[in-house]
Amino acid sequence: MDQQAREQLIRAVAAAIFDHADELTALDQAIGNGDHGLNLKRGFEAVVSDLPNLAAKPWPDLLKAVGMAMVMKVGGASGPLFGTFFLEFGKAITVEPDRAALVAAFAKAVEGVKARGRSEAGQKTLLDVLIPVQAVLADDGPAAAIKAEAIAAADKTIPLKAIRGRASFLGERSIGHMDPGARSSSLIIVTVVDALKNQGLVQ
Ligand code: ADP
Ligand code: MG
Repeated sequence: MDQQAREQLIRAVAAAIFDHADELTALDQAIGNGDHGLNLKRGFEAVVSDLPNLAAKPWPDLLKAVGMAMVMKVGGASGPLFGTFFLEFGKAITVEPDRAALVAAFAKAVEGVKARGRSEAGQKTLLDVLIPVQAVLADDGPAAAIKAEAIAAADKTIPLKAIRGRASFLGERSIGHMDPGARSSSLIIVTVVDALKNQGLVQ
């Protein structure tokens, strides 16, 4: 993947967040404080403002820089969590990753989020998307399977009761709403897979 392809990928992810900022905000209004869309928008605006400089970096440095932008700009609970995801991904990824390197780095990133959030699967958070997607990735699932899992996993947070984050303050009343962080993670994953597909890098 060359600099232009990396820039296209980042722009696509940012655009997905900008296009869905209102939806993410509405989800967070239902079970949080209504800032998730704005938080992520601010983070990705910072990332986009640093293009194409960012895309000139090799994957490890690029992902670490994105992680730093998330930590610095997103705020809330999700800033450090998304930040950790990208930072750990960047620390683990190789300069020209193959599928195995990608799977290994994704696993490290998920471990980082678990540690940072003191959280696990089933607690109605972004981990309820990241963990099942990781399983499909590790299973050598094709692009369509990864996307389908990301979407289905976000939907499956609807009946869950929140055990972590602001939504947990609502207890039973958090049931019946999709977790905003699960939705944003799902969006990012679907967009990345589509971008890689467009570039002929995955089937
Ligand atoms: P805040 O909750 O501080 O307003 P955001 O609204 O940006 O931050 O992000 C909320 C999202 O963060 C939730 O939907 C959930 O997915 C995720 N989240 C919050 N706390 C945790 C945690 N301890 N572990 C994992 N994810 C969490
Ligand atoms: Mg919030």
